[in-house]
Amino acid sequence: MARQKIESDIVLIGAGIMSATLGLLLKELNPKLKIEIFERLDIAAAESSDAWNNAGTGHAAFCELNYTPELEDGTIETKKAVKISEAFEVSRQLWTYLVEKGLLQNPENFIKSVPHMSFVWGDENVDYLRKRFEALQQFHLFKTMEFSDNIEKIKEWAPLVMENRNSKDKIAATSIKLGTDVNFGTLTRNIFKYLESLEGVTMHFHHDVYDLKKRDDGRWRIKVKDITTGEKKKIYTPFVFIGAGGGSLLLLEKANIPEGEGFGGFPVSGQWLKCTNPDVIKKHSAKVYGKASVGAPPMSVPHIDTRMIDGKKALLFGPYAGFSTKFLKNGSYFDLIKSIEFSNIKPMLGAGAKNIPLTKYLIEQVIQSSDDRLKALKEYVPSAKKEDWVLENAGQRVQVIKKDKDGHGVLEFGTEVVTAHDGSLAVLLGASPGASTAAQIMIDLITKCFPEEVKTTLWQTKLKEMIPSYGQSLNENPVLCDQIRAKTNEVLKLKV
Ligand SMILES: Cc1cc2nc3c(=O)[nH]c(=O)nc-3n(C[C@H](O)[C@H](O)[C@H](O)COP(=O)(O)OP(=O)(O)OC[C@H]3O[C@@H](n4cnc5c(N)ncnc54)[C@H](O)[C@@H]3O)c2cc1C
Repeated sequence: MARQKIESDIVLIGAGIMSATLGLLLKELNPKLKIEIFERLDIAAAESSDAWNNAGTGHAAFCELNYTPELEDGTIETKKAVKISEAFEVSRQLWTYLVEKGLLQNPENFIKSVPHMSFVWGDENVDYLRKRFEALQQFHLFKTMEFSDNIEKIKEWAPLVMENRNSKDKIAATSIKLGTDVNFGTLTRNIFKYLESLEGVTMHFHHDVYDLKKRDDGRWRIKVKDITTGEKKKIYTPFVFIGAGGGSLLLLEKANIPEGEGFGGFPVSGQWLKCTNPDVIKKHSAKVYGKASVGAPPMSVPHIDTRMIDGKKALLFGPYAGFSTKFLKNGSYFDLIKSIEFSNIKPMLGAGAKNIPLTKYLIEQVIQSSDDRLKALKEYVPSAKKEDWVLENAGQRVQVIKKDKDGHGVLEFGTEVVTAHDGSLAVLLGASPGASTAAQIMIDLITKCFPEEVKTTLWQTKLKEMIPSYGQSLNENPVLCDQIRAKTNEVLKLKV
């Protein structure tokens, strides 16, 4: 049987929020582009981007304490928080553009206002939270954040967290009404539905990408297998984006580009406790983030979390970390072993040896009993009853391990975009802050991989139409920031 050959301008591997955002931006910038999208599952956004697989927090650095570490001199590092907050405003602007243009309907199906809170106990932590609040107050993006160590005020913000709480410890919280819950699954599927309706865009579900190679003519040859029929296809393209989530590392290794050498990955699975009691769910309306335990990776910061999924309010606590050798929830137990290569074995072993607190944390998490999980939950919901909560699997993350300049492995906790020197291939590794900052990540990627096109008046004008703050800092421009927030709140129907 002759193999089918397809020619395309752009190939996107994986149908999660990252490919959706990149495909959308590129097609808006150049409607003539031919785009082929390959997804191994039978629907889009069924891995990390699915609502039940992630926390749905519109990460704007309002409540996540790991984005504002305390430095050795006792001051608070705010650079990362400002960057993430700005990036989330970019996502909000892109979604607003899509809704205003009628390309996405009913924003309430994918984004809702849910206050973001940080909650801590103990003198040291209260002191930290106050310092964090004061440090963030210098920045316009965080101006509407409130701080309190008053029990009655915190009760007003989060009654469930305060119910039956009789600890003698000092407590404190911050709250900001601008926070959001985002259903990235619905958003992703709606973006793909729109993309599929456009001429030149084809989605191939149940298609597994198993190999890619740069040819002498500068194009990539991508090998794909139709999982339903077994048919194999070859696709030729000058640009490929590997947005395969946990599967990206294995494909980066296949691509064999020098920029991808030395990367490794370590899978961390997640679990939630999901509340089944409607009376308890009703009592809580916030995303309350606490301080992570020693050694915990930032993506394991505990939170008691109001979700809005398919029009229904839900309540989750977690995530608890776990260990699995799979890189995707629907992946293979051989993923970890398959990812080990000559070029990354040293960094991987080195990263493991250097991160004993993380290893210890993961072991403790894996051996937890249901009583241990309830104990952790009770720190946030003292009145919690075991019978009101069930354990559910969250999404799978691959913790990126990167080679430093001395060839040693370091754990990389952010999102890492690797691009080939000629801009013909880009791959996204890592998870946090992930989906919330997809728009900014993809604009940066486009700037790197399509430098000449980005400079044209046509693309510059379109970028400014989609992202009115494009090229400007909202943090340094309070008037523009307020105008844009007012507009995005109105169009996305956010009740602040
Ligand atoms: C527990 C948890 C909590 C999180 N909480 C948040 C949060 O609160 N806020 C936030 O912004 N982000 C959060 N994230 C991160 C966020 O979910 C991810 O950053 C984002 O979903 C990644 O999107 P993606 O498109 O890169 O990957 P995915 O959504 O995983 O999509 C990748 C797709 O590629 C497909 N694929 C893989 N291999 C192949 C192949 N060989 N061929 C074809 N297709 C392939 C997969 O089937 C999948 O559909 C969380 C993640 C986890 C795991």
